[in-house]
Amino acid sequence: MQFNSIIGQKVLINKLISGYNDNRVAHTQLFLGNEGTGALPIAIAYAQFLVCPRKTDNDSCGQCASCKKFEKYAHPDLHFYFPTATNQSVKKDPKSSLFLADWRSHLTDSNAYITLNSWYEHMGIGNKQGYIRKDDANEIITKVSLKAYEGSYKIVIIWMVDKMNESASNKLLKTLEEPPNNTILILIGEKYEQLIPTVRSRAQLVKIPRLSNEDISSQLINKGVSESESEDIALLSNGNWNLALEIKENAIETQANFLNFRKWLRLCFQPKNYTELLRFNQEMAKVGREKQKSFLNYGLEVIHNSILQNNNHGKIVKKAGDELDFTQKFAQFINEANQKELYTTFNQAIYHIERNANAGILFSDLSFQIVDLIAKGRSYAISS
Ligand SMILES: [Zn+2]
Repeated sequence: MQFNSIIGQKVLINKLISGYNDNRVAHTQLFLGNEGTGALPIAIAYAQFLVCPRKTDNDSCGQCASCKKFEKYAHPDLHFYFPTATNQSVKKDPKSSLFLADWRSHLTDSNAYITLNSWYEHMGIGNKQGYIRKDDANEIITKVSLKAYEGSYKIVIIWMVDKMNESASNKLLKTLEEPPNNTILILIGEKYEQLIPTVRSRAQLVKIPRLSNEDISSQLINKGVSESESEDIALLSNGNWNLALEIKENAIETQANFLNFRKWLRLCFQPKNYTELLRFNQEMAKVGREKQKSFLNYGLEVIHNSILQNNNHGKIVKKAGDELDFTQKFAQFINEANQKELYTTFNQAIYHIERNANAGILFSDLSFQIVDLIAKGRSYAISS
């Protein structure tokens, strides 16, 4: 990972580079930054820069043998420690070195922009908390006592040092205080107050600021998001790149739900075309429980918005374009003849999906109910 693939943070990166040029690289540094600011990718890019034998004035070369190993997060002088817990394959005494393959694949998948939650999910540890433990501390002490393989720096990155337990940090105090020559320890943490004081007092603090909205939106535009949507997401994401990505994914899901829901409703409006409706239900039965639930929840949201629309609260309906247009048209058929029953019907469907109902039967049944309920609302609307 090179500095040039870090999102934003130019000021900070220049500071790290000029520190190196002025021969001021502290042996123990604490990178402190909130989730989604890029503390881990910056630490990796910094390590790659320090170790690269062909670095330029402002970045690692990205081409040499050392950089190639860094790109795979597998350089022999780069050591990672991070929170772990037991899972299906590590049933006792968890420690970082037992999870290295998982760790590297997670970094590769997300360009090192990971979160504590994404890592826990990747490890598959359920609801357990991860810790950096005494066994990790012992390995760190052994690692730093050995010579660097390739002769320059040896770098130990301890990610989420907030999760280091007391026995581990007590073991490490001397190493943090005075690491061997040419060893750089980079501790990464999110919450200063949660760090053990004896640990934080031994490290030089490097604050990683939140990302600017401009940095987030231009990165989203690079990923194909439209300019106006990028700005909206950046505003909501609070300087957190991971949150921005999550909002973007949700927006994609909402769009898919909208297109599907509109298609379904159109079929329910012309119930003579049972073949198409049946096909739709079969498709829905295949998509998996989470998507089915998300689709049905979207349906509830449309009904809710239609009711708001009908009661002159249209201004708080946060929809635009085709979606708003659809909601307004749909609202014409939602009224006291069917709104309560529609709510109940969708909620019941969600309830049954959660309890593993046969989705094919459920969606067929639901479709017939919707056909009737729409018809009811329609005749009510005509007669009143
Ligand atoms: Zn290089």
